[in-house]
Amino acid sequence: MPDVQPVAKPLPVAPGRQRVRTIGRLRPHCLPIFVHESVLESILDYSEQDLRQERGGFLIGGFYHDQRQYIEVRSFLPATETRAGAASLRFTHDTWASLTREVDQRFPDELVVGWQHTHPNLGVFLSGYDLFIHRNFFRETWQVALVVDPVRQEFRFFQWQADEVVDCGFICVQSESHG
Ligand SMILES: [Zn+2]
Repeated sequence: MPDVQPVAKPLPVAPGRQRVRTIGRLRPHCLPIFVHESVLESILDYSEQDLRQERGGFLIGGFYHDQRQYIEVRSFLPATETRAGAASLRFTHDTWASLTREVDQRFPDELVVGWQHTHPNLGVFLSGYDLFIHRNFFRETWQVALVVDPVRQEFRFFQWQADEVVDCGFICVQSESHG
């Protein structure tokens, strides 16, 4: 992947127009992750549709800077052609091919800023295999992972901090119609 530089863009939060909610603990050295509430809702809905097997998808958005650099998640694409088990999820060659095609067609100006998958009733963490996926396919500083446990109703983001992948909080941007 060519080197991606952050694009100048004001934070997706207009004072007095949108409400924001911080979920989890924001780490001072991590990139703030802004997630639109509607996107978070669709990810949680998708995650709840299978409580027996893992499922996953991709986070679409951008890498920006305002006063500081940040990540914005604006859309979600469910993964297709995966191989799933009760405690495993594998992306296949066809998963990646279909992701590339969908992004080219539907989100030509956006980046794949991360991935999501579920851990039904296992809790939210990154397994050794999850770390393998993250290190190999989401190695950019602006690429994050979201793990959802639809049974325990937990979810958590993870991102790079130097060579480690650490859990981090995020900022949920409520849509204007709600505020
Ligand atoms: Zn996992």
